[in-house]
Amino acid sequence: MAVPEPSVYDVVGIGFGPSNLSLAIALEERAGEEAAPLTARFFESQPSFGWHRNMLLPTAKMQVSFLKDLVTFRNPTSRYSFVSFLHAVGRLPQFVNNSDFFPTRAEFHQYLEWVAANFTDQVSYGTTVTAVTPVRGSDPAGPIDRFRIQVSSTATGTTFVEARNVVLATGLAPKMPEDFVRDEHVWHSSEFLEKFRRCDAAQLNNVVVVGAGQSAAEIARHCYDYAPNATVTAVIPSYGYSIADNTPFANRVFDPNAVDDYYFAEEFAKDKVWQYHKNTNYSVVDDEVIRSLYQRQYDDEVRGAERLRFAELSRVTDVKRSGEDTRITIHSLAGDHSYDMDVDVVVCATGYEAMAVEGVLGDLDGYCARDDQDRHRVERDYRLVTTEDLSAGIYLQGGTEHTHGLSSSLLSNMATRSGEIVRSISRNRFNEPSNG
Ligand code: NAP
Repeated sequence: MAVPEPSVYDVVGIGFGPSNLSLAIALEERAGEEAAPLTARFFESQPSFGWHRNMLLPTAKMQVSFLKDLVTFRNPTSRYSFVSFLHAVGRLPQFVNNSDFFPTRAEFHQYLEWVAANFTDQVSYGTTVTAVTPVRGSDPAGPIDRFRIQVSSTATGTTFVEARNVVLATGLAPKMPEDFVRDEHVWHSSEFLEKFRRCDAAQLNNVVVVGAGQSAAEIARHCYDYAPNATVTAVIPSYGYSIADNTPFANRVFDPNAVDDYYFAEEFAKDKVWQYHKNTNYSVVDDEVIRSLYQRQYDDEVRGAERLRFAELSRVTDVKRSGEDTRITIHSLAGDHSYDMDVDVVVCATGYEAMAVEGVLGDLDGYCARDDQDRHRVERDYRLVTTEDLSAGIYLQGGTEHTHGLSSSLLSNMATRSGEIVRSISRNRFNEPSNG
C-alpha cells in the first residue's frame, strides 16, 4: 500500500545531485533512531539523475578517493558505499586489483546513479522550485514555522508543498569571462560534451580553450585527441599549468574536523587558510593530465606538426560574433599587448560561481542575516541564521565557503555534512539543545 504524502514535510530538498542524495541516505539511515522518521521530498530540474554529465570525458578520473563517497565517512557500514556498488555490479576484485583510489568519473557516475535509483519515489525530476514563501502557524503572533514551496514542471504544471525545513543544493553556477555570451561557438566547460558531440569534430580547425584549471586541461586534451584536424590553443593566465596539491598533509584541509578549525577561526586566519591551500583545488591540474599534455606538445615538435599551442601569461578579454564567425581578443602579460584570433569554437573553462542562494530564496532572503561583508551568516550545522520570527530551517549544501571552508562545494566532506544537517533537523524538531 502506498504511504500517504504528509501535509507538511520535515525536509524539502531543492536540487538532487550528490549532496542531497547523500542527505536522502542519511535521512533513511537515521529513520531507525527516530520515534517518527523525518519525511522528505526532493525536487530536481534535470530529467533524471546527473552529475556534471558534460565533463564525463572518457579518460577523466576522480580527484578524490573512492572512500569519499556518499556515505563512508559518516557510516562505513552503509549499503550505499562505493564498495557496495562494486560488489553489486561484480567488479570488486577487479577494482581492488587495480590498486587505484581514484576511479574514473564515468564509473563514479554509475555509482551515483545506482544509489539514486533507490530514491526515485522521493524525487520529482524535471521540476523547478520557482518560489519559497514563509508560512506562519495558526497563531498570527507566532513564528513562521514552515515554508510553502512552489514547483513548476511541464508535466504537472504548478504545484505546492509545505515543509518545516528546506535544504538547498542547487550546485555551482558556470562563470564566463565578462561580456561572453554562450552560443554554438562560445561554450562553457559545463556544457562541453553535449556541444562537442553536436558539432562535426573533424571540421574544426581552430579551438581555443580558456583557463588553467582541471576542466581546461582535460578539455584541451580531449579536443586535441578527438578533433584530429584542429589546432588547439590553450589560453592560460599563468606561465604553465600548476599542479593540484594532493599530498597527504595538504589533504588534511578536507578532513571533517578541518571544518571546525575553519568555522571557528578569525577572519584573518580564514584568509590565510585560503591562501595556503587553494592550490588543492582551484586553477590547478592533476599531474597526470599536465604530463600527458606536455607529451602531446613534445611529440608534435618531434613530428614538426604543431597542433597544441599555449598562449601563456594570457587572458581572453573580448569576443565578437558575426554569423558563423567568432573572433576573440587575447591579452598577453608578456609585452602587455593584445591580439585577435579567429576561432571555430572557444571553450571557457573559467570556473564557477558559488551556489546562488538569493536566487532560490527570493523574498525569503530578507529574513536571512548577513555579516559585515554582506555574506550570509551560517551556523556550524549549515543552517542559515534568520530573524527570530522564522523558526523553520533553511540549510545550505554549498555556498558556505566563507564560513565552512574549502570543502563546502566538494565531495570530500559531503557524507559528514549531510549527517550533521540531518542531526540538526532532528534535534530542532524536538527543540533539543545543540551539543556543539
Ligand atoms: P577553476 O579551477 O576555477 O579554474 C578556472 C580557470 O579559468 C582559472 O585558471 C582562471 O584563472 C581561468 N580564467 C578565468 N577567466 C579567464 C580569462 N578571462 N582568461 C583566461 N583564463 C581565465 O575551474 P575548473 O577547472 O572548472 O575546476 C572547478 C572544480 O571542478 C575544481 O574543484 C576541479 O578540481 C573540479 N574538476 C574536477 C574534475 C575531475 O574530477 N576530473 C574535472 C574538472 C573539474 P584565474 O584564477 O587567474 O582567474
